[in-house]
Amino acid sequence: MPKVWLDGEFVDSDQAKVSIFDHGVLYGDGCFEGIRAYNGRIFKLDSHLKRMYESAGRLRLKPAYSRQEIASAIRQTLKINELSDAYIRLVFTRGVGTLGLHPFKCPKPSTFIITASIELYPQELYDSGMKVILAKHRRVPANSLDPAIKSLNYLNNILAKIEAIDADVLEAIMLNADDYVSECTGDNIFIIKDGQIITPSTEAGMLHGVTRRFVIDELAPKLGYSVSERMMKIDEVYAADEIFLTGTAAEIIGVIGVDEHIVGSGKVGPMTQALAQEFRRRVSQDAPED
Ligand code: PMP
Repeated sequence: MPKVWLDGEFVDSDQAKVSIFDHGVLYGDGCFEGIRAYNGRIFKLDSHLKRMYESAGRLRLKPAYSRQEIASAIRQTLKINELSDAYIRLVFTRGVGTLGLHPFKCPKPSTFIITASIELYPQELYDSGMKVILAKHRRVPANSLDPAIKSLNYLNNILAKIEAIDADVLEAIMLNADDYVSECTGDNIFIIKDGQIITPSTEAGMLHGVTRRFVIDELAPKLGYSVSERMMKIDEVYAADEIFLTGTAAEIIGVIGVDEHIVGSGKVGPMTQALAQEFRRRVSQDAPED
């Protein structure tokens, strides 16, 4: 039986419970991270913990454990489950409180760590590329619920994901309220036009993806590619030579169609392939921890 780490204890995963009075359950009040371990090394752990504690700070949720305690708990959870390649889910909920919204009447957040194996998209989609749609739901504006906060309230993304599923695809591109491309429901987006890689700037309102940063700062420069971060309209996406998505679970995946538009040649493009290959090399061989 896999074990999870829950508030300082290891618990059999089928026995791990939080209260129905936890505001994480009642209101989606809390935050989370998705992290990967490759070959026993936790990929970009510092970046994920930084984002987690920033999310908590934005919600004025005071974590029950320090970053060092959480880092050590993650390592122990991988160890006890004998996992060296895994997806790691770290969650802080607001904790148990009254039925009112008042977050500060919840004295103690619940903290838990789940480690599991993950396959977000079928292998076939990595080889042949995936189709996506443009969602009708807009990404929530940063002055309403900043998408940079990785909060437990993912309903905006889930509504767009339902649109994708209804259209028989697995991901959807979301625009912001001003018609600019922001990101997908669980991944960031990049396009390539005439050899130039472009990704929406964070001002469009998005989760500041760890994989997105890895592509911009490390993978692209390694291959001699440069990336510009700027505001982008959907027409540029439709006209792109290549499109790829990035995420901790998805890694780098090529997109071959957006709605009825075929991307480039209709196959995963050469620059996307090179980046995906470099990603694999970095995480499987010499991946240094942060
Ligand atoms: N956007 C959203 C909405 C996400 O949930 C995620 C994470 N799955 C990403 C982008 C990608 O971020 P990261 O590379 O840090 O996993």
